[in-house]
Amino acid sequence: MKVTTRLTRTLRIARKIAWAILNRNHPVLVHLIPMRRCNLACSYCNEYDAVSRPVATEVMLARIDKLAVLGTAVLTFSGGEPMLHPDLDKLVVRARERGLFVTLITNGYYLSQERIEKLNAAGLDHLQISVDNLEPDESSMKSLRLLEPKLKWLSEHADFTVAINSVVGSGIRNPDDALIVARRARELGFMSSIGIIHDDRGQLRALGAREMRVYDELRGFSRRSILRFNHLFQDNLARGVGNDWSCRAGARYLYVDEAGLVSYCSQQRGQPGIPLLDYGKADIKREYGTKKSCAAYCTVNCVQQTAILDNWRSPQKALAMLPIKAPRLPSAPAPAPPPDRVLAG
Ligand code: SF4
Ligand code: SF4
Repeated sequence: MKVTTRLTRTLRIARKIAWAILNRNHPVLVHLIPMRRCNLACSYCNEYDAVSRPVATEVMLARIDKLAVLGTAVLTFSGGEPMLHPDLDKLVVRARERGLFVTLITNGYYLSQERIEKLNAAGLDHLQISVDNLEPDESSMKSLRLLEPKLKWLSEHADFTVAINSVVGSGIRNPDDALIVARRARELGFMSSIGIIHDDRGQLRALGAREMRVYDELRGFSRRSILRFNHLFQDNLARGVGNDWSCRAGARYLYVDEAGLVSYCSQQRGQPGIPLLDYGKADIKREYGTKKSCAAYCTVNCVQQTAILDNWRSPQKALAMLPIKAPRLPSAPAPAPPPDRVLAG
């Protein structure tokens, strides 16, 4: 990556962080879904289908314009698999034209040298890939072996920054795989992040002894790790301890699904369920001050990271009662689990 590109990007994000701290009346991070369909079918995921069509490009462009009007700082294309959208590059270009910092969460299967160059040309700022294991298994095909060529192309050609997310928690067969994935990320000059497995409502499932050892070792990689921004949250969750924080979803973080509805997050879809094109400053103000009953054991990393900007100010007074579950500790007898989910963002 060119030094000038890196410097310009650092300046842009620094300005956005400063603006987010000074002004609380706009979204800091939005996850926007251009495509619910995915080419994979990870067993822990319920954020995809196998049939849906891409959202029409004109509709997506109108949503991006609206997010710019709301003052969004960072826009992340997520899915499903967003790279299945035929006009993803156009969407990235429009978001950059509207002054947004643009990122992409992908399973990486559609990356090629040519595709990476096109994303460079479109102006993508950052890309995140989850790598779940070393070898593909019945729960995930996102293995280091299959993705290794793509990761090498990214390290050679990408003008955008790259982060590799690895996961720990029950349901992952070999927790030690996450260490090898994080080491490989470091060798390739990428950032790394770690996701803790959560249940079907984004709620905590505490780590067992083996996973905890891996988690502690991953913490040691913190220099180039996204984990460093919210390690206290993550440390508590790994140990099954809740966090006292104000979830600002619906205000500082928005999840906009393929139907264009604003939800709190991928784990609370349909709440508040207001069309993005009708969403306004009054909604942002209301949700900023609304406590979410699912906050204590929430594992949704990106919303927690966003909340750090506001933790020092205004307590929340209203309350949104959302579905929650008590944390399941590793020693507790567990009923048959629902499909697990890991949030990549
Ligand atoms: S986790 Fe990602 S790659 Fe796997 S099925 Fe869900 S959307 Fe697709
Ligand atoms: S606390 Fe916020 S981010 Fe976490 S599950 Fe609830 S609404 Fe979503």
